[in-house]
Amino acid sequence: MRAKVDPDICTGCELCTQTCPEVFYMNGDIAETKDTDVPSDIQDSCRQAAEECPVEAIIISD
Ligand code: SF4
Repeated sequence: MRAKVDPDICTGCELCTQTCPEVFYMNGDIAETKDTDVPSDIQDSCRQAAEECPVEAIIISD
């Protein structure tokens, strides 16, 4: 599973970095993800971050 943030949509609210800091971090005013497979033990929190993003900027791919 991989996760990406669409930088054109992200508003920089930082919610995802609080929900799943193992994957999401702030790069200036925009959230980014580490460009690696999401480990199985944090996939649930990563999916939760995607579901809770207020502007649906997080793209999950399996
Ligand atoms: S929750 Fe969504 S809008 Fe907020 S920082 Fe993360 S990707 Fe950006």
